[in-house]
Amino acid sequence: MILPDRKSIQIGLLLAMAVSVSAFFLYNRNRPEDGIFDEMAAFRHISALEAIGPRVPNSDAHQKARDYIAGNLTESGWVVTEQTFTYNNITGTNIIASIGKPGGILLAAHYDSRMVADKESDPAKAILPVPGANDGASGTAILLELANCIQMDNNNIQLVFFDLEDQGNIPGWNWILGSRAFVDKMSVSPTKMVLLDMVGAKDARFYYEVNSNEAVSTEIWETAHQLGYRNNFIKAEKFSVLDDHIPFVERGIPAVDIIGLDDPNWHTLADTKENISTSTLKAVGNTVCHWVNNTATQVP
Ligand SMILES: [Zn+2]
Repeated sequence: MILPDRKSIQIGLLLAMAVSVSAFFLYNRNRPEDGIFDEMAAFRHISALEAIGPRVPNSDAHQKARDYIAGNLTESGWVVTEQTFTYNNITGTNIIASIGKPGGILLAAHYDSRMVADKESDPAKAILPVPGANDGASGTAILLELANCIQMDNNNIQLVFFDLEDQGNIPGWNWILGSRAFVDKMSVSPTKMVLLDMVGAKDARFYYEVNSNEAVSTEIWETAHQLGYRNNFIKAEKFSVLDDHIPFVERGIPAVDIIGLDDPNWHTLADTKENISTSTLKAVGNTVCHWVNNTATQVP
């Protein structure tokens, strides 16, 4: 047996520290540094959701997408619950991830994809489901990465993934069923609500949405301009949309819809990951992450 000399002991200690530090980073690989939005990871979520298949109600893909979303949020350290609701004889499921208590900021997106690609001119294509890379998966993917970017300590935040937003104008269905059910059951109102919908298209432009709260819209668009995203966030009104923020607006809650409605692939079979831009994902993800981290959300 050879006793290690003093230098070897020091090297041994350094090695042990290095091993434990790298173990810490490996363990925390799903929780990168707060404030850094990973648009490549967001793109991988869109790819994964598209590969699962169209997230139409009552399908295996819908169930698998729910498991994918909930699994990622749990790995990121959030408390995840599912909320089921019914409309006519239809059952839907909202996914809710929380830190702290309700009553802070609520960020949302819909995760279902439309059953019919009814913007296709060919009738054979128009009856097929939309892949929903931009319409459904982009907002979902950004929320999944905001779960890693948002500062968790002393914060009260809910991330809500609404089901059944996108089935309106189909017999027996309606638009925004998940958000209506959520607000009906909601006992504590959020202080502010921000919705992300169609937030991944190439060269997307986000205009002030007419039904959205003016003061909160200004805060978010100003944050975007400070971060250098003035080409994506245009300080002008353009659209008025029935979307998942409306049930919150009707309750008097300051709510904002960030939506890129100029997408030429909207409700077509071309709504695929090939038409998603990581620069757009970065602009939206970074903006919302900075805005949330700069907005106090502690509930007394
Ligand atoms: Zn849609």
